[in-house]
Amino acid sequence: MNIREIKGIGEKTSLLLNRLGIEECDDLVRYYPRNYDIYEPPVLIRNIDNKAVVSIDGTVMKSVDMNHIKNLTILTTVIRDQNGDTIKVNWFNMPYLKSTVKYSMRFVFRGRIKRMNQQMVLEQPEIFTLAKYEEKLNVMQPVYSLTKGISNNQMIKFVSEALNITRIEDYLDENMRKKYDLCDLDRAIRTIHFPENFEKLKPARNRLAFDEIFAFVYQLRKLKEKETEAVNRYRINNHVVSDQVISNLDFELTNAQKRVLNDIHRDMNGKVIMQRLIQGDVGSGKTIVAFLAMFDIASAGLQSALMVPTEVLANQHYESIMKLIAENNLDYEVVLLTGSLSQRAKKNIYEKIESGSAKIIIGTHAIFQERVKYDHLAFVVIDEQHRFGVLQRAKLMDKGVTPHTIVMSATPIPRTLAIILYGDMDISIIDELPSNRLKIKNCVVTKNFRPNAYTFIEKQIQSGKQAYVICPMVEDNDMLQAENVVDYANMLREKLDSNITIEYLHGKMKAEEKAQILSRFEKNEINVLVSTTVIEVGINVPNATVMMVENAERFSLASLHQLRGRVGRGKDQSYCIFVSGTENQDKLKRLEILNHSNDGFYIASEDLKLRGPGDFFGVRQSGEMQFTIADIYSDGKIIETAGRAVDEFLLSGHELIDKNLNDGIVIY
Ligand code: ADP
Ligand code: MG
Repeated sequence: MNIREIKGIGEKTSLLLNRLGIEECDDLVRYYPRNYDIYEPPVLIRNIDNKAVVSIDGTVMKSVDMNHIKNLTILTTVIRDQNGDTIKVNWFNMPYLKSTVKYSMRFVFRGRIKRMNQQMVLEQPEIFTLAKYEEKLNVMQPVYSLTKGISNNQMIKFVSEALNITRIEDYLDENMRKKYDLCDLDRAIRTIHFPENFEKLKPARNRLAFDEIFAFVYQLRKLKEKETEAVNRYRINNHVVSDQVISNLDFELTNAQKRVLNDIHRDMNGKVIMQRLIQGDVGSGKTIVAFLAMFDIASAGLQSALMVPTEVLANQHYESIMKLIAENNLDYEVVLLTGSLSQRAKKNIYEKIESGSAKIIIGTHAIFQERVKYDHLAFVVIDEQHRFGVLQRAKLMDKGVTPHTIVMSATPIPRTLAIILYGDMDISIIDELPSNRLKIKNCVVTKNFRPNAYTFIEKQIQSGKQAYVICPMVEDNDMLQAENVVDYANMLREKLDSNITIEYLHGKMKAEEKAQILSRFEKNEINVLVSTTVIEVGINVPNATVMMVENAERFSLASLHQLRGRVGRGKDQSYCIFVSGTENQDKLKRLEILNHSNDGFYIASEDLKLRGPGDFFGVRQSGEMQFTIADIYSDGKIIETAGRAVDEFLLSGHELIDKNLNDGIVIY
């Protein structure tokens, strides 16, 4: 049923919802909250610490001022809490509040804390009478990802309307549900939107995580059925070119890299096409292995394609392969295909791919779009695989192409799970870092340490090195995060020596801009890069030796480990400074885990042990495999059960037709 049938959704709203991928009632029902808001008891101003959203029980200290700046109406006042501390309050474009909020009145003000030059301001707070707030206390409100023009309250209304007129059919019968200890799907979905409490949320959340994994494994199994017969039409056994490139490298391959390369050579010359997962921790040198294989394919006159999750990374891989090609006087044409190219540039590249003149194709998912026709695609490499779904591979096969495939991942998952999640692939592991690496030195500090950190960064830069600073995280809002990065960079420009070049990078910048900044950073024209986590995946600048992460406590340890992997990629001593925004001992203890180990898997599993029951939305996961709800670390058990359930389901002759289940897997 179309969302237009829901009360309150007219043409304009429906277009906005479309932007979030919501077209049908079903989509609304499956549009899960990204978090829950709990109206906590009011805090004292002196205890705000680094909280982003707070409630303050306060008395209005002065009558509200109204100012007009451009087309903004700004209301300002000051409130005082029960302890006598005061804080400034702002509202934008809400002039009518002037008649509600009056001198000496007492309310609970709930809003976002904005920090400007040491001063805190409470922005855009909702106001409640004390009695009204009491009612709201401790109720869980869903928080949805929004688009401009739709408020969270509207979203709540739409979702509950949609739930009122929908009943969700369960594709698992009662027997299966009992056997695998799952609650009913309909109930799970209702609860995920409007849970009574954390207790009730858990089984609902587990059911939906199960479904995601179930659908994922189901598709793998289907894919495998199609694939088993794929004979190797591209048998390669000539490695002259890759041998030459290896001998010209300025390092020696590690034994692990050699072993994996051997696996690849064997596969490429085997009877059936290669399907291989290469798992290796950050910095283990996966890229060169893929490049070498691509050269051998090119030398046989065939095409290979390398797909990566971001344009930034695509650019970087392009630059590195061009460098190797130049150093070795190879004459293979390489093209870079990303979404942000002009139509004309794209068309030009399509032609080169179709004619077969381009031998090596590097890009984002744009390289597998409908319009791209390959001449002789014999080899596909997917980097940072967890960002893509299996469906991409299925799509290729539907085009009638079954090339050799490698997927590369830094996600450390135990072998038993890997076999379920990558059931159709062979697995190679690069379990060794290049020998020239020094162990990264880590420290976990509080905000007071910042001046020392800045001095340290200055020193490193004076000795020719570079630094990353990952900006404090603000709410899950790209726009605010972008502003924050810009502010932080400006602040640093004032604090650090004036001949230090500082630039920033965030997700809202244009692709060209990002590429340009990154390329200047690679050439050491930028000394300090202030960034959001857009650099988390795959970026390689070996001259960078400092990684400073603000609000480290808000990241999952797996993400921090990935961030840390951005330094220590060359021969120089590297340093990681994790700045905790809180002095909370438990949170500091969690961060300390990073000090003890460099082993991604160990870190992820320790992280889990320390997480509380309500934490599943609390700590950001790096979105492994793009499951919306499931988490490959904490859901190991669910992965195993889902694997068994799929087998049973298929054996009994069932088919999965639920549209949303299938769609849920691929994000692009
Ligand atoms: P990742 O496995 O995280 O993708 P990369 O492939 O980006 O790692 O490699 C990280 C860095 O290590 C690159 O600068 C690369 O040139 C370098 N490198 C790769 N293999 C070796 C090696 N055997 N010895 C020294 N440096 C290496
Ligand atoms: Mg990589």
